[in-house]
Amino acid sequence: MTSPTQHPHTPAPDEPIGYDPALVERTWREKWAQRASNRPDIAGCARPYYALMMFPYPSAEGLHVGNLFAFTGNDIFARFQRLIGHTVFEPIGFDAFGIHSENYALKVGAHPMELIPKNIANFTRQLTRAGLMVDWSRTVDTTHPSYYKWTQWVFLQLFKRGLAYRKKAAVNWCPSCKTVLSNEQVEGGHCERCTTLVEQRAMEQWFFRITDYAPRLLANLDTLDWSASTKAAQRNWIGRSDGAEIRFRILNPLEDAGSAAAHATSEVASGISEVTVFTTRPDTIFGATYLVLAPEHPLLDLITSADQQAAVDAYRTRSAHQDIVTRKTNKEKTGAFTGAYATNPATGGLIPVWTADYVLMEYGTGAIMAVPGHDERDFAFAAKFELPIERVVAGPDQTARTPLTEAFTDDAGAVLCNSERFDGFPVDEAKAAIAAWLEEKHAGKAVANYRLHDWCISRQRYWGPPIPIIYCDECGPVAVPEKDLPVVLPNIADFTPDDSGVSPLARHEEWYRVPCPSCGKKARRETDVSDTFLDSGWYFLRYPSVGHDDVPFDATITKKWLPVNSYIGGNEHAVLHLLYSRFLTMVMYDAGHVHFEEPFTTFRAHGLIIRDGAKMSKSKGNVVNPDEYIEEWGADTFRTYLMFLGPFEEGGDFRDAGISGVKRFLDRVWASVRDASTTDEPDQAVMRKLHQTIKKVGDDVPVLAYNTAIAAMMEYVNVLRSGERKPRRAEVEPLVQLMAPFAPHIAEELWQMLGHDISVFDSGWPAFDAARLAGGTVKIAVQVNGKTRGMVVVAEGADESTVYAAALADASIAKFVTGEPTKRVFVAGRLLSLVL
Ligand SMILES: [Zn+2]
Ligand SMILES: [Zn+2]
Repeated sequence: MTSPTQHPHTPAPDEPIGYDPALVERTWREKWAQRASNRPDIAGCARPYYALMMFPYPSAEGLHVGNLFAFTGNDIFARFQRLIGHTVFEPIGFDAFGIHSENYALKVGAHPMELIPKNIANFTRQLTRAGLMVDWSRTVDTTHPSYYKWTQWVFLQLFKRGLAYRKKAAVNWCPSCKTVLSNEQVEGGHCERCTTLVEQRAMEQWFFRITDYAPRLLANLDTLDWSASTKAAQRNWIGRSDGAEIRFRILNPLEDAGSAAAHATSEVASGISEVTVFTTRPDTIFGATYLVLAPEHPLLDLITSADQQAAVDAYRTRSAHQDIVTRKTNKEKTGAFTGAYATNPATGGLIPVWTADYVLMEYGTGAIMAVPGHDERDFAFAAKFELPIERVVAGPDQTARTPLTEAFTDDAGAVLCNSERFDGFPVDEAKAAIAAWLEEKHAGKAVANYRLHDWCISRQRYWGPPIPIIYCDECGPVAVPEKDLPVVLPNIADFTPDDSGVSPLARHEEWYRVPCPSCGKKARRETDVSDTFLDSGWYFLRYPSVGHDDVPFDATITKKWLPVNSYIGGNEHAVLHLLYSRFLTMVMYDAGHVHFEEPFTTFRAHGLIIRDGAKMSKSKGNVVNPDEYIEEWGADTFRTYLMFLGPFEEGGDFRDAGISGVKRFLDRVWASVRDASTTDEPDQAVMRKLHQTIKKVGDDVPVLAYNTAIAAMMEYVNVLRSGERKPRRAEVEPLVQLMAPFAPHIAEELWQMLGHDISVFDSGWPAFDAARLAGGTVKIAVQVNGKTRGMVVVAEGADESTVYAAALADASIAKFVTGEPTKRVFVAGRLLSLVL
């Protein structure tokens, strides 16, 4: 340990007020590295606290100020947790696979295997310079085989459990990025990355059955301490709608459609005698006047009558050539009659069965009961094809006979009509009552439906972990044996994607030709790589176990450190990353690999930084380069300034003018500690303000109210130095601890200056004395020769000499005090009058 006298910045009494951040920060970076200050005792510690932040994508541009804002906010929280007695693990890693990196490499004509290590080295330099309490001995790089070996292992765990499957599906294809996109990566029909209009293509893809987990993913949200907006985004994405599945009996299509009514009991044999529909409006079943099946519905082959076969076939061919976006948005209704009829289980009446492309196979059961009286699309369709339109819901000013000129969909105060025993039921009540009634009749049941789709894992790109599957003509898709992991991504020069829809790896026979692990015959590797969201879906499990290379995560360590205590990241990942991480964790839980279902106990989304009122962008030229600011002002000032901009969860406006005020604040703290008297008794009024400040900062930091915590410390320093009074040691020592999470380097330096050998972060958090909290600051008027010349702000209870000093320190008052006062009149808490 270094003693205070050996320190390079031992203060001299005549030294100027400012301190040299470059020197102090370099000193402490070196000491932290030497002392391994930021490396927690992972195996042995008693009170572990896992403070996670979302890991960055290491772009070639380097760390941007938004990254630094987020990481600093997490670092302050983590350092506070350490000060209150936890052993804190604050890891970082690099999410370096994926289209961003690959596209950039293509643009600059370099190989991502060369670019990524350089970018990571640059990020590491920047993050170290920012003074984060990161454990640099436990980082992850998703592109390193030692990491993606386990990403492939995660894939295989899902494969083994039947949760990874192949399906030929209409997928979103970005013609510019030349890859499949997940639904989450499409915004309004456009690629979220390059804004190109997305096309639909039918391709064989790997999917994860996340939809099996939809009810749990939804229900568990209630148990999580997350930002309300994040939970709402997840709920909305999972998109539960409550309704009913209703079974309609189909009449024998072999009978002539015209005589179907006469043969109502003659049903199709085998398992195709009925069609199941999903509806969110079971209350309207008495108004269901026809059924619609999606053109892809397999039942169409079985129920279409001979005389309608040609029309249905033509219609199905036509809709196969349409993309899903058009189908969803097309106002013009088209369709074909199948010639089949079904029985409405509520009315017993016969209704025709149609096929139309406004019904989608992926939603519900791929079939609907059409209620044209109360659904706009059904109304348009019925009007066009002259199908019956019945009213079964009436609004407050309507009756059962009020004509329908358009679909009536307003449920407010509406009741059922033309619905036999349910007439007069309010809509909500009727939904439950009719679902129960249908269940009694064995014609349906109440069910929930979800908007969530299965997660498409396949990417026809190069820069990702190869999907660990081998195709064998004899055995089908076979898992790569775990002992053969990782399937190493080969270093190939021609990684440019093309329009073929297959990965560049498919051009490398020397790589994909392998024997089948099961039968030994000639087989072929999967040449697609996996989605980047799989890399980031489990990284938090890896961090504490970095170094344990024989397992993805060590059981004992995982039990000790997980689930994550607090997670901070951007709200743009509210749906994608957080949902996938939760899903994978649930799968790991079900497989017995982890002891918890939910990975992140607490999640808080940070806000965004704008500059001079506008979003930062290269084109506007208002991007803040953190390196320049840290160079000029020091990391401590920059960190504190970023946190002072606004509430952490809201963000703030970066204005260059503000930063000097924060530097001045740190300079004043520096000078206050340097000049503190070790012999004088502390002033009781200042001490009261100190205890109020300890309470305020201790209340604010845990709720991420960093800006108000900083304001409170600034206010305290004003009181501490009011009238440039000489501070006392007891008045400044706790202040160093309070500011330590924000400005860690200077805090360490000042703590050492105060004679301590241990790190300020191991010194504990100061306690406040509740009995001393009452009282605050007061404004005291200062008169000179009977005229009020100004006001000074001092601690309540300040004595005459303190107020006098404060008056002389105020230039606007001091200019009237042209000599030594002959008389001083002091009214405590109110007035100081000077007579010259
Ligand atoms: Zn694109
Ligand atoms: Zn085989």
